Order: sequence, then C-alpha cells, then structure tokens
Amino acid sequence: MKKDIEAILNESKISRRDAMKVFGLGGAGLMMASSTEVEAVVSSNKAKGKIVIVGGGLTGVSTAALLMKSIVNADVTIIEPNPKSVSYQPGQTLVASGVWQPEDISYNTADFMPDGVKWIHEKAIEFNPSANMLKTSGGQTIKYDYLIVAAGLVLDFGAIRGLEAIGDVYSLDANDATRAKKILGKNGLCSVYFSEGAKDTWGQMQEFVAAAKSGKKVKALFPEPHTPFKCGGVQKKMVNLTNARLVEAGARANAEMAFVTNSKKLFGVPVYAEAIKGQMKDRNVSTTFEHKLVAIDVANKIATFEKHWEEKGILGPLLVESEIVEKIEVVKMPYDFCHLIPPQKAPKEIAMSPLGSEKGWVPVNKETLQHIKFPNVFALGDIVAVPLGKTGGSARKQYKVLVENLVAYMERKEELPSKYDGYTVCPLITNIGEVMLAEFKWDPKDDEKAVVAPSFPQDPTKPTWFYWFLKAYLLKPMTMYGMLSGRA
Ligand SMILES: Cc1cc2nc3c(=O)[nH]c(=O)nc-3n(C[C@H](O)[C@H](O)[C@H](O)COP(=O)(O)OP(=O)(O)OC[C@H]3O[C@@H](n4cnc5c(N)ncnc54)[C@H](O)[C@@H]3O)c2cc1C
Repeated sequence: MKKDIEAILNESKISRRDAMKVFGLGGAGLMMASSTEVEAVVSSNKAKGKIVIVGGGLTGVSTAALLMKSIVNADVTIIEPNPKSVSYQPGQTLVASGVWQPEDISYNTADFMPDGVKWIHEKAIEFNPSANMLKTSGGQTIKYDYLIVAAGLVLDFGAIRGLEAIGDVYSLDANDATRAKKILGKNGLCSVYFSEGAKDTWGQMQEFVAAAKSGKKVKALFPEPHTPFKCGGVQKKMVNLTNARLVEAGARANAEMAFVTNSKKLFGVPVYAEAIKGQMKDRNVSTTFEHKLVAIDVANKIATFEKHWEEKGILGPLLVESEIVEKIEVVKMPYDFCHLIPPQKAPKEIAMSPLGSEKGWVPVNKETLQHIKFPNVFALGDIVAVPLGKTGGSARKQYKVLVENLVAYMERKEELPSKYDGYTVCPLITNIGEVMLAEFKWDPKDDEKAVVAPSFPQDPTKPTWFYWFLKAYLLKPMTMYGMLSGRA
C-alpha cells in the first residue's frame, strides 16, 4: 500500500468517524464480519411461494442472498447461464489501465450462490407473465409465484456501422468476447465494457503511449454513445487514466486527446459537470457535444459521427411560427487510439416480451421497483427503466428496497414499505491514486433532475487519495463478500 491509513485520513480531512463508516462497509467484505449496512433482517414466516430470479449477476445473487435471510424456508431459483456471472465489472477500468490484473476481477458464480438457492444453468428465453410462466433455453417450462428480473443489459456493438460482425455482447460472456476480439483489442480500437476487452484495452493503451513516447504525434478519441449506459463515468475515467499513463511516460505533449459525446453536457449533475469541465481543461482534453457515433472504419482508423442540432426551419403556411427542425452533419474523426463505449440495450428476449417497454427497459414503479403491469413481478439493476442508476452503487440500494417490498407483497400487506430514491455513485478516477466520488440521487422536487448526495462532509467535487483507497481497496470486498451475501 502506497501510504499508511493515518496519512490518507489527514490528507483527505476525513474524520475518523466517517472513515470507520467506510471501513465498516469494506470490512463487511474483508472480514465477512457482521458489521454491515443492512438493517437487522427479521425472517418472515408469512411470506410463501416460489420466487424465480432471471439473471444471476450482481443484483440477482445479492437479492437471492437477502431473500434467503428474510423468508423462513424461502423457495428461490436463479436462472443464469454464465458460470462467471458475478465477476467484478467496476474493476475493468483498473485492468484496462494496468493497475489490476484480469484475475483480480474474475470470480466463479458457484462460489457465491447462496446456500439453498436452486440454480438453473440456462437462459430464460420466453415469458408469459399473465400465466406466471417462462421457458428456458434448455426447453424447461418454469412456473413461479413471484418473478424478479435482474438480467442486466447488452452491449450493442452491432448498432455501429463497421462493427456489425460483433453484434450483441454481454460484459462477462466468454463466447461473445471471442467474437468481439476479432475486431476489438487491435488497430487502436478497444472497449473496457467486456472483461476480455479490458485486458486488451491495456495492451492498446500501452501501444498508444509507446508511439507518443517515440516522438510520433498521435490522437486519442473517447466517444460516449447515444443510449443510456452503465456507469456513466467510465469514459471520463478512461480519459484520465490514458492521460496519467502518457504523463508518466513523459509523452503527453505528443498526444491529442478528444472526448466526444452525444449528450449536451458532461454529466447530469451540474456541480460534477463543472468539476469535470475543469479536469478536461487542466488535462488539455477537447470536448465535443451532440455528436452521435454511427460508424467506425476499422482498417483506416476513422470514426464517423452525426453532429446534430436544432434550428428554426422554413416558415409554416400561416407564416406565424417557424418549425424547429433537426439538422445533421456528418463529421469524420481519425484516431490512433479509440476507446469505445458501445450503445446499450435490454436483452431482446425480455425487451420484446410483455415484461419490456417501448424502449426495451423493464418498466417499474421507480420507487418500489414493482412492475407497472404485473404486480407479482419486480425488477432491479441495469435493466430497469428508472432515471439515473445503472451502477453497482444504485444496485446496492435497490436490492434491499426490492426485498423489503416483495416480502411485504407476499405477506399481502396493503402498502409496499420501501422506496428507492435514485441514489447512484460513480467513483470517477481522475488520476492513478485519485478519485472524485460523484454521489447523487433524484432531486426530491423534480426527479428528472439529480442532486448531489455525498456520504462524507467534504467537498464531493474534490478528488482525493482517500476515495482512491475506497475504490481500489474497499469497494471490491464490500461488493464480493458484503453485497453478494446480502450483508452490505
Ligand atoms: C467497465 C465498467 C465499469 C463499471 N464501473 C462501476 C463503478 O465504478 N461503480 C459501480 O457502482 N458500478 C460500475 N459498473 C456497473 C455495474 O457493474 C453494473 O451496474 C452492475 O453489474 C449491474 O448489475 P446487474 O445485476 O443489473 O447486471 P449484471 O451484473 O451484468 O448481471 C446480469 C446477468 O443477467 C444474465 N442474463 C441476461 N439475460 C438473461 C436471461 N435471458 N436469462 C438468464 N440470465 C440472463 C447475464 O448473464 C448476467 O450474468 C461498471 C460496469 C462496467 C462494465
């Protein structure tokens, strides 16, 4: 460890009380001890019935673990085809920057499956929620009393022209990775969004840094997609990590760095957006807005964007008001290194089933996480249609809300007692050894907007070594041994 804990606390002006709060959470994982955030769970003996969970990733397994504690003789089945489904995705940026090794984040699901939970090693492919039934890829018909949808999201590389052969990719699926690696992880093009891709991103980043160090003038491109995507801070982390490696090599002056987003802003919460703007300026990274990535010419290393904006059009027939028209202009950007965040979507077997919505994401009451059409169905994690979210940090709040509400529903209580408030956290790596802990939740006055929700009393926009310590040393054990066992 680079610094002792005392020095980190002094430097970060974190009180011992707050530090103990963090160590309590991390410690839950580190020591598998009893000190956790989850309130003392009272086991219900009134809640009866078969619960099926589709998806055994972070939220599916955490929810199953907490259900086993919350219901006497709970009957819980998880449907999950991937034997490595609980591998630690937030660590992929650290693998992609050479801080961690791939084996630091790879875990076997079997080691985390809670005792007593039945595991069907297949995929759910057909849903009939009116009949409380689903079918699996192995041809089984499964009946349930209660369904939990925790199937995460799919990386839609195929939506980018030039990458159609990659198609849909799950972040942790080995077969998908083999297909993606035929195109990504070479020629300067890479993506941290799947685990094998994280390893290859480090290889590509090293080649890029070496080219800059050799005196060549090089260009790095960091586009953000036009769809919602998990962990909204990833591209900023990749900008900062690449910058750090260039600086370390004494090669920063030879590299041009460009961050390009489809959005109109750098971040949804104004104070964090302002802080990120300052970070980009300090690092001499250009920022371009309202550019949708539509194609990659892999062989010639050119990314094509549609620059889009609105303009007053030709006057209408009554010559009263002009119409607003969307304008598009094609913009091509060459690169030597391009880190891609692919467009993302809900898995199609769910998106297109009665459980999905027009845009695919599973529609739930955003506070109770109960499905808006089928009351015995609940959903959480990356697949749900709620504003913000799509991080492990939001999932950590959601799974407790879901379990409390599902148990109440099973006990035939009139009201669902627990409410998710939109809490999301993004440990935004600003440098190797420094993190800005962007925590936020829905604005209670306007839930389309977000407000800061810091857990610590200091300025949340200030990057510190303490938050790096949290990210690099505490959050993984907290997730792997605290959350996945329903204790943090
Ligand atoms: C590069 C990267 C960096 C990230 N950084 C952070 C971070 O710093 N902080 C943070 O909080 N979060 C971070 N995240 C996000 C976090 O990992 C996810 O939000 C979290 O894993 C979501 O959990 P989930 O259970 O919804 O989805 P997952 O953990 O992806 O699990 C979904 C599971 O469902 C299974 N499944 C899908 N379809 C079916 C089906 N039809 N039948 C059965 N099973 C199915 C899949 O196989 C998968 O195992 C990051 C993610 C990535 C990729």
